[in-house]
Amino acid sequence: MPQNMIAFPFEFAQENVPLAPLTRYRIGGPARLALSPRTLDEACAAYAWMMAQAGPRLVLGGGSNVLIDDQGFAGTVLITTRLEGIVALGEDRYRVESGVVLDRLVREVMLERNYDGVGSLAGIPGTVGGAIFMNAGTVNGSTCEWLDEVEVMTPSGRATIRVTPEIYGYRGQTFCPRGGLVLCGTFRFRPSFREERAVYDHYLQRRQEKQPQGDCCGSVFKNPPNDHAGRLIESCGLKGTRCGGAIISPMHANFIMNDRHATFDDVLQLIQLSKSAVRERHGVDLQEEVVIIRNGVVVDLA
Ligand SMILES: Cc1cc2nc3c(=O)[nH]c(=O)nc-3n(C[C@H](O)[C@H](O)[C@H](O)COP(=O)(O)OP(=O)(O)OC[C@H]3O[C@@H](n4cnc5c(N)ncnc54)[C@H](O)[C@@H]3O)c2cc1C
Repeated sequence: MPQNMIAFPFEFAQENVPLAPLTRYRIGGPARLALSPRTLDEACAAYAWMMAQAGPRLVLGGGSNVLIDDQGFAGTVLITTRLEGIVALGEDRYRVESGVVLDRLVREVMLERNYDGVGSLAGIPGTVGGAIFMNAGTVNGSTCEWLDEVEVMTPSGRATIRVTPEIYGYRGQTFCPRGGLVLCGTFRFRPSFREERAVYDHYLQRRQEKQPQGDCCGSVFKNPPNDHAGRLIESCGLKGTRCGGAIISPMHANFIMNDRHATFDDVLQLIQLSKSAVRERHGVDLQEEVVIIRNGVVVDLA
C-alpha cells in the first residue's frame, strides 16, 4: 500500500464517494469516506468505528430527504442501502433491515398479504430506516404506527426498544437520536378487509397528478398545526420563484425542485426565502422537514 494511503478496517469502505448520485436532489459533493456494511453486525462495527473518528459523521439511507453541501462531506458517511433483509417471524410480524426500500416492503409484504396501512406508506421514496427515523407517512398514517420494536445503535451501544405511541409523532420520534443508527424494525401488520392493491394504485396515481415529478426532497417543510406549508408559501406569491437552477414548483409550493443543475445554495436560498416570507406575512415559523447538511453538520435554520 502506498505510504500516503490510510488503512481502513473494512473492505466495504470507499474513499471520495460522490454523494449527489445518492440523493434525490442530485446535489452534494464527495464524502471523504463511505462505509456500506452488508450485515447488521458489520453495520454495528462500522458505526462504532465511525463514532470513534474525529470529524463529521452521517447516516444515509435512500437520500430522499437530505440536502447536502456541494463542498462535500469531510468525514464518514455510513450508507445503509446494502442492509436488505426481510425475515417473516410469523403472526404477521416481519423483521426488516434499515436499507430495505420502503416501496419493496409495501409491494412484497403488504400487498402480497393484503395488509392494512398501504395508504399510509404508498409512494414514499427512501429506505425503511429513513422512514422509521423520520416517521414518514401521509394523512392516512405513519411508519412507526406499524412497528412493534426497533433495534438501534447509538454511542451507548446496541439496544432493542419497544415502540409505543408516546415515542413518536408527526415526522419524528424520540427513540433514535440524531446521529444514531436504526438497524432494523419489527413490523406488525394486520389483514385488511379491502383490496389494498386498489388503494396503492389510487395513491400512486394521486401523487402523479398532484405532485411535481423530478429531482427534489418531497415536502421541504412540515405542515404547521391545522394548516399547510404549501398554502402559506403560495399565498406569499412564491410559486414559480427561481434561484439559479432551483425553482419553487409552480404546481406545489412546498416542493423546491432542482430542475437545472441547481447548487446547494440555490435550494437553500429558496428555503430561506419561503421561511422569511411566511413569517412576515403570517407570523408562522415553518420548520424544515428536509435535513440540511452543511460543512458536515445538520443545520437548523433560524
Ligand atoms: C418525491 C418525494 C415524495 C416524498 N413523499 C413523502 C411523503 O409522502 N411522506 C413523507 O413522510 N416523506 C416523503 N418524502 C421524504 C422522504 O422520502 C422520507 O422522509 C423518507 O422516509 C426518507 O428516507 P431515506 O432513506 O431516503 O432517508 P435519507 O434521506 O437518507 O435520510 C433522511 C434522514 O434520516 C436519517 N436516516 C436515514 N436512514 C437512517 C437510519 N437507518 N438510521 C438513522 N437515521 C437514518 C438521515 O441521517 C437523515 O437525517 C418524499 C420525498 C420525495 C423525494
